[in-house]
Formats: sequence, C-alpha cells, structure tokens
Amino acid sequence: MKKHICVMAGDGIGPEIVSQALRVLDKVAEKFGHEFTREEALIGGIAIDNTGSPLPEATIEACKKADAVLLGAVGGPKWDTIDPAIRPEKGLLGIRKALGLFANLRPARLLPELAGACLLRPDIVKDGLDLMVVRELTGGIYFGKPAGTEVRDGKRTGFNTMIYNEDEIRRIAHIAFKAAMKRKKKVCSVDKANVLDVSRVWREVVIEVAKEYPEVELSHLYVDNAAMQLVRDPSQFDVIVTGNLFGDILSDEASVITGSIGMLASASLGTEYAGLYEPIHGSAPDIAGQGKANPLATILSISMMLLHEFDLKDEAMCIENAVRKTLQDGFRTGDIMEEGKILCNTTEITDKVIERL
Ligand code: NAD
Repeated sequence: MKKHICVMAGDGIGPEIVSQALRVLDKVAEKFGHEFTREEALIGGIAIDNTGSPLPEATIEACKKADAVLLGAVGGPKWDTIDPAIRPEKGLLGIRKALGLFANLRPARLLPELAGACLLRPDIVKDGLDLMVVRELTGGIYFGKPAGTEVRDGKRTGFNTMIYNEDEIRRIAHIAFKAAMKRKKKVCSVDKANVLDVSRVWREVVIEVAKEYPEVELSHLYVDNAAMQLVRDPSQFDVIVTGNLFGDILSDEASVITGSIGMLASASLGTEYAGLYEPIHGSAPDIAGQGKANPLATILSISMMLLHEFDLKDEAMCIENAVRKTLQDGFRTGDIMEEGKILCNTTEITDKVIERL
C-alpha cells in the first residue's frame, strides 16, 4: 500500500514524540511492504513564529491532499500572552473545522501492565477497561444558535442552544457502529432523553441506524448514569457514542481513570478529507527538550491511523502488541515509572518498541 501522510509536530514535546512515532511507522512499512511518504506542515506556536498564523493556508492545503494527518501537540507558555485570536490552540480548532472532522474517537484502555496507575480500586477493574468514546465534535451546544449574553428583565443572562439534526446524528452513529464492528460489537448511546427534546431525536435516529448493524448490540444510558457507571463498572462498555458536551466530559473521565495520559491516542474523522490522529495529551512544556516525554500515545496514534484510515488490522495490532510487550518487559518512561522497572528516555523506549515489532 502507498499512502501520503501530513505530519504536524507542533510545539513543546510534539517534535520529540512525533519523530519517534515515525520511526515505528517506517519499521512497520518495511516489515509489511508498504510505502508511507510524508510531508511536514506547521501548526500552533511554531506556525505563529514562522508565519504569524497558527494555521497557515499551506498547512490546510497539505492536510486536505494527504491520506492521513498526524499531529503532535500545540501550545506553550511562550504564546500564552499573545492575542487570543491567534493562539496556538486556534490552529487545532481551525484544522478540525477545515477538514470537517465531526467525530472524535478516544479509546481508553487500561493495560494490565499499568494497572497500578489506575485511579479505580483493583476489584473494580479486575475485568479490564477497554472502551472507546465516540464524541460528536462539530455540533451540539458548543455551536448551536442562538447563543450569547444579554440583559433580560434587568438581569445578566447567558444562553446556548443544544441542537442536532438527524443527519448530524446519523453520521456520528455510523462511525460508532463501524468502530464497534472492529471491536466487541457493543454500542452504548448516551443522552438525556428523559429531559431534553434534542436527546429524544438523538435516540430515535441512533435506533434507526442500529438496524443497519444487526451484529452490534445497542444500549442507551442517561448521561448522569453513564458518568457513574464509568467509575462503578467500566468493563461493561465497548463503544460509547454521544454528543459534543457529554462526550467532552465522559471522554476525559474515561481517560483520566486509566491514570496514564502519556499512553492514550485519539482520532478525529470526517467524510470528505483524511482523519487526524494525535495523542490526547498536550505539549508538556515542563518536560520539553529533556528527552523525558512518553512517545507511546503518539505511537498508538499511528496504530489507530493504520486501523481506521487504511484498514490495516495486522499492522495496527503489531504496534499495539509491541507496546504491550515493551511494558511487560519492564521498560517505562518517567511518567509511568514504578519501582523495579527500567527507566527509559523517549528514544530508548521507542527502540524497545521497534525491537518488538
Ligand atoms: P499537558 O498534557 O501538556 O501536560 C499535563 C502533564 O502531563 C504535565 O505534567 C506533562 O509533563 C505531563 N505529560 C503530558 N504528556 C506527556 C507525555 N507524553 N509524557 C510524559 N508526560 C506527559 O497539559 P497542560 O500542561 O495543561 O498543557 C500544556 C500546553 O499544551 C498548553 O499550552 C495547552 O494549551 C496545550 N494543550 C494542547 C493540546 C493539544 O495539542 N491537543 C491538548 C491539551 C493541552
């Protein structure tokens, strides 16, 4: 297979983790006989420094013609005080919008090797934690109109609108069911249909879409219950599909309980252009340039890219297994270090993964 990847390393630890993840991609290409060409593009703080914009037009163009996009992270204290209109994070929101990335896929998995880092009691996670939150990313209350602040009856008043039409719900539901087909074939749709009209439409449409995936088991939870169930018994979940606001909160909750932010990858998908793959963590300016960054989330982002963008299951599994084997063999970066394990820097742990591919 021949594919072209746009690489945006970004700021802070971004260049360190991305360059290591690309070494893994090159090794996989060699092993399985693929060719992954790539070009680099600027985003975030480094783009501001070089072009005055956090998302130069050339970056948008490069992403639009790529078969997949890999992102490190953006932001840092250097740009904290600049005009909010051109902050590094604007680059991130801008590229999601430009590529029409309406679905955010965030797996949260507790590897048995890192069970000690989990924030839940061992008896609660004895059956494991391996779920994926599929969050709608471009609609719902974050973008609904009308929205604003005004004085009503002499009182300062703020308002937003939670709105979804059936097309927006249908397309995110399809993404969730397709993801479930590659996993344990279970989808839990999260809404607040006991209170919100928008959720009643959401539920109706998800049930309609489910008919196209007879192998997938569909369940529904109200968001308050879903938040509880995530910490009470996370093993019951496979794929959770939900709107923008609920997904924002639940995906953070799901990932933080694993206890290892440096281990978690994510994908943002649309239909018109290629998907964007990135670690969920930020640019970690506190450890940038010191060789301390954990590259495993970015390496696992590559694995997600191979699976979801190119349908290369064996190659994706090969990376996941190599990461697991590296941890099983006791190698750790500082953020996941435990007593008795072997401390590695960013390059060393990547070497260990590559040896195990
Ligand atoms: P952060 O995720 O960058 O860091 C939080 C903590 O986790 C830090 O102590 C950091 O050292 C550690 N950490 C994060 N990733 C790590 C890794 N791979 N290996 C080892 N340790 C790791 O979050 P923050 O400190 O809130 O934000 C720093 C900057 O990143 C800010 O400018 C923020 O806006 C930006 N940010 C960017 C993204 C993104 O690009 N997607 C996401 C979140 C935050």
